[in-house]
Amino acid sequence: MTKINPNSRTNSSSNPTGGAFLLGDTHKVYTPEDLSAEDRLAGETASRFLRERVMPATEEIEQGSHTLMHALMREAGELGLLAADIPVEYGGLGLSQPASALIAERINPQQSFALTHEAHTVIATLPLLYFGSDSQKSKYLPGLASGECIGSFALSEAGSGSDALAMQTRADYRDNGLYVLNGEKMWITNTAFADLFTVFARTGKGVTAFLVERNFKGVSFGREECKLGMHGTSTRRVILENAEVPAECALEEGRGHYAAFCALNIGRFRLEAGATGGLKYLLEQCAQYAVQRKTFGKPIGEYGLIRQKLAEMAARTFALESMVYRIAGELEQLFSQVSPRSGEASAMYHRAAEELAIECNIVKVFGSEAYSTYADEAIQIHGGYGYTEELPFARAWRDQRLLRIGEGANEIVRVAIVNLILRRIAAGRLALPDKGGIEAGPEQDTASLLRRLVLEMLREAQASAGEGLLQCQEACACISDVLIAAYAQQSAQLRVHKMSEGNRRKRAALLAEVQAQSSIETALHCARRLAAILARDTDQLRDLRAVFHPYTEALAEYCGSPLEKTHAAAVLCMEMGSYPLT
Ligand SMILES: Cc1cc2nc3c(=O)[nH]c(=O)nc-3n(C[C@H](O)[C@H](O)[C@H](O)COP(=O)(O)OP(=O)(O)OC[C@H]3O[C@@H](n4cnc5c(N)ncnc54)[C@H](O)[C@@H]3O)c2cc1C
Repeated sequence: MTKINPNSRTNSSSNPTGGAFLLGDTHKVYTPEDLSAEDRLAGETASRFLRERVMPATEEIEQGSHTLMHALMREAGELGLLAADIPVEYGGLGLSQPASALIAERINPQQSFALTHEAHTVIATLPLLYFGSDSQKSKYLPGLASGECIGSFALSEAGSGSDALAMQTRADYRDNGLYVLNGEKMWITNTAFADLFTVFARTGKGVTAFLVERNFKGVSFGREECKLGMHGTSTRRVILENAEVPAECALEEGRGHYAAFCALNIGRFRLEAGATGGLKYLLEQCAQYAVQRKTFGKPIGEYGLIRQKLAEMAARTFALESMVYRIAGELEQLFSQVSPRSGEASAMYHRAAEELAIECNIVKVFGSEAYSTYADEAIQIHGGYGYTEELPFARAWRDQRLLRIGEGANEIVRVAIVNLILRRIAAGRLALPDKGGIEAGPEQDTASLLRRLVLEMLREAQASAGEGLLQCQEACACISDVLIAAYAQQSAQLRVHKMSEGNRRKRAALLAEVQAQSSIETALHCARRLAAILARDTDQLRDLRAVFHPYTEALAEYCGSPLEKTHAAAVLCMEMGSYPLT
């Protein structure tokens, strides 16, 4: 198998701004078609590793063989599959963000391996990379890159998951150059074989991150949790009983939560890059089965309701893929400006990981929910066979369910999207137009109508609920859902516009049109619901509806001939036997 080579990154001077897509600032969108030959080679190495080493071992992985999982991680390390994010200066490959996303995408069909990989390469490694001192990075990053050292991220506790800052684990400094940690971390992925735990604990100065080696005195582990899915991953408690941690293993004293949140931002995005790969795999299986399986004398792929599932699965995958690589390209512009050994590195990494938090949250909700819906529909398309363990769908369905809970439950993330936008407006980082400042007019572009509708929704919700908007989570969710639909639709359409003429572009345009139907349905439903939530009486309800009406009306009119499009998209998937843009 080809080992991946280090990359040379190119710098760019114009920086993307988080949330600016709302103002129609589409920057220069990056698309999967822009992946370089080097990026594609990294993706190919990941695909071959999955095909030749991971998939054949699925049965043993699913029985919870952590020895095997550990060995596979070591092998992945030898091939460079753990080193993409780590700069060359610290023994990594320093690949681009799109290359890292492509690796995550390609390994996803075995979700236990993908989660083990993500926990190691993203949430365990990035706090150290972004916030560690030069000596901490020199000590640990080369081993994390090669797989000789496996990492784990220990933030959650029995009483604090979503509200991670309510953690009880304490770290007390002793005069002998040691911190003493006491507490219990829960749900910690990779515990069975991890060598290094990034542990978050309270000190007198606030939350601090610690690099805790497995063999440090006072560190022990609970039993394996019995989980719904992800049976191949190790999930245990990490118990800290007077655990002795040298002071030089502390990171970001009093500011450790920034390290956690930055890593989780990138983690959310990277998990959904994985969801793209998972969805492509499911679609391929479903498209092929729809042609083979006959009922009432016809292949099931000739029935409208099966075609609808295939078409929508392909459209959702296309939109997700477009969002993932758009974000990857923008992250790359920000991260490629960081010199890893400079004194400014931590501040720059922090800014880069934080800038696109809105987009990372958007893709988290969209990707995890698309994966949930279509893992479920994959079972449905396969009927009784889909419900058995003979086929991969029951496992996919169990495994993907974690994505709506982990690294920020979707309820929390939906509210966070609105919170981040409001904070950026308040800080003057995002200037949304005032009433009357939102361009009206008969614009026939779905993405633009969605964007303008959500600006109106946000403005009306602010005017109505004021400071209390974040407390009305139901209103925030309506706004978030239209925002997500707008970003998905804009990303899909911009990608189509950027493609050169030809069959590939025609296929992409068709998928963007199928996606538009669901984006529009979401918008119509949420605008109506938001008006009902905000209105105190029928007069106000009428007024709110009147504000949203120009957009909802134009969106409803734009819907046009959905059956023709879904049938064409489904036939395309079945003819190709795969995701149509493979
Ligand atoms: C298999 C697995 C692996 C994991 N791996 C790791 C790991 O490696 N490291 C690690 O640190 N953690 C890990 N976790 C923990 C995971 O991150 C948490 O489970 C997650 O953050 C949710 O926290 P919780 O379970 O405490 O749920 P809670 O926070 O108790 O939430 C319960 C429900 O209430 C909702 N809710 C909570 N607060 C609000 C609110 N303010 N508004 C609206 N709704 C709300 C949530 O959305 C959720 O639906 C893992 C979990 C699992 C299951």
